[in-house]
Amino acid sequence: MDVVRSLGHKPAMSETPLPIVRTVAELRAQVRAWKAAGERVALVPTMGALHEGHLSLVRLAFDRAERVVASVFVNPTQFGPAEDFDAYPRTEARDAELLADVGCDLLYAPTVGEMYPQGFATKVSVAGVSEPLDGAARPGHFDGVATVVSKLLLQAGADVAVFGEKDYQQLQVIRRLVRDLDIPVDIVGGPTARDGDGLALSSRNAYLDAGQKRVAAQLNQVLKVAISRLRAGEPIAEVEQAAVRALEASGFDQVDYVEVRGPSDLARLGPGRLEGGSPDPGRRPHRPHAADRQHGGLRPPSASPGHAARGGLPQPGHAWVRRPRTLKL
Ligand code: AMP
Repeated sequence: MDVVRSLGHKPAMSETPLPIVRTVAELRAQVRAWKAAGERVALVPTMGALHEGHLSLVRLAFDRAERVVASVFVNPTQFGPAEDFDAYPRTEARDAELLADVGCDLLYAPTVGEMYPQGFATKVSVAGVSEPLDGAARPGHFDGVATVVSKLLLQAGADVAVFGEKDYQQLQVIRRLVRDLDIPVDIVGGPTARDGDGLALSSRNAYLDAGQKRVAAQLNQVLKVAISRLRAGEPIAEVEQAAVRALEASGFDQVDYVEVRGPSDLARLGPGRLEGGSPDPGRRPHRPHAADRQHGGLRPPSASPGHAARGGLPQPGHAWVRRPRTLKL
């Protein structure tokens, strides 16, 4: 049943190419109706300014559900005071068209007041996995993400929610909070969509001119080289340092870090070699996965003290690189 339209919204083609709701009550009513009809529902949370990366997640969501809701909410609590909350691109009409083109059923676009009403006082904070990398570089960022994603998941009550592996640390934070808070939803990670040069698509790429985009695309190349060096058995610390030098030589003004980490707890690996690092000609090369992350397909050294203390690290390993601040990826 199409509750949104029966709630008095204009038919899809008259004003907007797909129904848009702005309140939790409307969202819940529609999702409840679909579920009552035996349909599975997926949620794809976004901040809008949609591109092919987001749309690929919507398509992936349709593999898991009959109905797909996309949300667009530029969440103020995940932006630091010096960050780009005001400048962040807002293109709702175009977003709605793109979502309609891929068959999305509903756009949930709440106001800030709907998400954070007067007196709002709760914060979801995920220890551990939120702390390194972007967590260290952007204090409070993952608390903002964890809080808004918890709310979106609880508001929608979807069966499945799809997030991009491009924001890999965010995906791990979300997996952790869903387990910890017993939120009844399956979290699905979708692969990173890239342009022809290997640059991960991002709404913030709009800030880059052509020259900066060329430099930014080098990130992917440098990480691929780092992965092949790890696979060839070079020590992690040396590979990390070489990658920082290569990024600087490519034109990045400042590299905050390149770090090889375990895939789910993001525990630091190294400085020695990864196990299984020797090249295996029978194995397919690993597909690049993100501008700031590459699959390594490698095992951490079992003898490392950190490894023992953490009770074992997952594999494969990943090389991480912080986005250079001056390029604001
Ligand atoms: P954002 O609008 O940037 O907050 O992203 C919304 C969702 O889309 C997040 O789960 C992102 O990880 C995902 N996403 C963003 N860019 C890409 C991309 N290039 N490929 C796949 N997923 C992406």
